[in-house]
Amino acid sequence: MKRKKIPFLDPFSKDAKKRWDKIPKWARAKIVDNVYCGKCMGAVSIVLETAKMQNANLILRGKCKTCGHEVCSLVEPERD
Ligand SMILES: [Zn+2]
Repeated sequence: MKRKKIPFLDPFSKDAKKRWDKIPKWARAKIVDNVYCGKCMGAVSIVLETAKMQNANLILRGKCKTCGHEVCSLVEPERD
């Protein structure tokens, strides 16, 4: 497996990475640019800090790109 260039520490746990890799590129962009921020009261981009699996869900945690407020996003398990 080829490693992508990452400017800082990889926020993904091993399991989370596996799950993330299964998500199509367009869907990933939609996920990271569509996180609800309680301060901005709307969809914002997330500055990803950690990505972990919790039960069968992928939990992305980080900060709002606009205001720095803590935000998180849940990616439900795929049904196939
Ligand atoms: Zn915000």
